Amino acid sequence: MTGYDVVVIGSGLGGLSAAALLARAGLHVAVVERNEHPGGYAQVFRRGEYVFDPAIHFTLDAGPGGFTPKLLEHVGVADRVRFVASEHTYRSFFPDLTFDAMPGRDAFLRSHQELFPADSDGLARLFEMRQAIFAQLAALPQKVGPDGLEAAMATAPLVFRHRMSSVEDVLKEYLRDSRTAAAVASIWPYVGSPPSRMSFLLFNQMLETMHAGCYYPLGSFQTVVDALAAAVVENGGDVLLGAAATKIVLREGRAAGVEVAGGTVLPARAVVSNADPQHTFGELVGWDATGPSLRRRIGRYKLSPSAVVLYGVLNADPDALGLVHESFVFPSWDHERTWSELQAGRPGGIWVSVPTLLDPSLAPPGVHLCVVTGLVPARADGSWRAVRDDVADRMLRDVDALIPGLRDAFEIVEVATPDTLHRYTNSSGGATYGWENIPAQTASKRLAHRTPVDGLFLSGQWAEEGTSSLRVLTSGRATAAMVAADLGSPGTVPDLGGPSFLNLPARG
Ligand SMILES: Cc1cc2nc3c(=O)[nH]c(=O)nc-3n(C[C@H](O)[C@H](O)[C@H](O)COP(=O)(O)OP(=O)(O)OC[C@H]3O[C@@H](n4cnc5c(N)ncnc54)[C@H](O)[C@@H]3O)c2cc1C
Repeated sequence: MTGYDVVVIGSGLGGLSAAALLARAGLHVAVVERNEHPGGYAQVFRRGEYVFDPAIHFTLDAGPGGFTPKLLEHVGVADRVRFVASEHTYRSFFPDLTFDAMPGRDAFLRSHQELFPADSDGLARLFEMRQAIFAQLAALPQKVGPDGLEAAMATAPLVFRHRMSSVEDVLKEYLRDSRTAAAVASIWPYVGSPPSRMSFLLFNQMLETMHAGCYYPLGSFQTVVDALAAAVVENGGDVLLGAAATKIVLREGRAAGVEVAGGTVLPARAVVSNADPQHTFGELVGWDATGPSLRRRIGRYKLSPSAVVLYGVLNADPDALGLVHESFVFPSWDHERTWSELQAGRPGGIWVSVPTLLDPSLAPPGVHLCVVTGLVPARADGSWRAVRDDVADRMLRDVDALIPGLRDAFEIVEVATPDTLHRYTNSSGGATYGWENIPAQTASKRLAHRTPVDGLFLSGQWAEEGTSSLRVLTSGRATAAMVAADLGSPGTVPDLGGPSFLNLPARG
């Protein structure tokens, strides 16, 4: 068997972006994917004439000059993906208030000031500070080592001040009314933690990037997956489907290849894993080879929640129901209460998506698809099937309380539980976002791209840069740059921009 320069385990967006960039850099690359189709959480599924994205509903920084268009351009497949922008950022339904968040920081601020006039000044100061943090982060180098710490602290004092802050910590400083804070924190389900737990810096990076627009690739996220997979192949690499990695082969302590189901070994000079680290290190490498400290560290990480997702058809006009492309449904103003109930098994942080509002081609003419997602504890133990229908009905009732008529209009086509999400991606507990996005597990507090095993790298939502379609694509770029340099081709993976990813040193 001919050897590869790099074998990438997993064809999620994080694996494919690394693979496509490495192939474009002239390295001989193979991607091995255990599923029969590429994409991980971005892998589409079809039911009859309906096309459903299983997880991702929108992405960020995908407008002209954004990170993802630049990535696709660089690997030679820009013409295969067309992004459209959503008119709304989102709509939030609270018990006695429904409001829209629109693109643009100023529009977002103004609408919240109008809704919560008593907090108008606090909101203005908060948004000024948020913008300053975003700018300070952008001014930092992508990686700050201990040597650059002092200079970084001078350049970005607000970043250092808030690196361990939760959203709640910061909002309390600026806002008097808990309802204002609850409204501003509406995006918490996208991050998977309530305001008291969610990293403020991550929240801020996401919301600032959302101000610039939310985007959908026409034809589904599979088009991004297929374009990146094609880039691997067109640049001389292989994408091997139905090829589960069963072992990362070590030679003298260095990753030297990947064994796939059936026993074939693909020799390689470096290995990138896009898979869950518990699987990567515990099963593919073996804890004996990693040393006890990595095992302890991984054992301490908390998982983000998983989700129950209802995929359906809407037998009603979304507009008449009050739905936009993305709508949050909060039965309570108290997100912390929702979080405790979620821990007890009641799906919470629910959002309703109508993908056909952005891309009518996903269903026959005149038909609207609708996806209802609710967060639940990350537990994929085979027990969800028994309660699936009850949980689905509970979710629809909760949504119906704030969007009357939705339950009657919603015709379920498919339901995913944490067991399904686990099956799709092999992620522990069917976790939606990898490790939970609390300050102690965000950015450089996640696992580094370079692992303690020589020649083995990580890319994707469990590693630095973290959660979301955009973050895993940028994670793939960072990993690819590192691997290319290690294999003797430094500078062949360009900086493609994208929002800074908070890679601060461990102390500061
Ligand atoms: C319900 C839900 C909604 C979401 N909504 C959004 C959204 O609207 N916008 C957004 O940006 N993000 C969203 N996300 C988050 C986003 O989907 C993820 O952050 C991102 O897709 C993760 O990509 P990844 O490449 O890290 O990993 P994954 O997509 O998990 O891919 C990992 C891949 O590795 C493969 N693999 C694992 N083990 C092996 C092995 N041994 N051999 C071979 N292959 C292996 C898996 O099969 C899989 O294909 C959502 C997630 C969920 C679950």
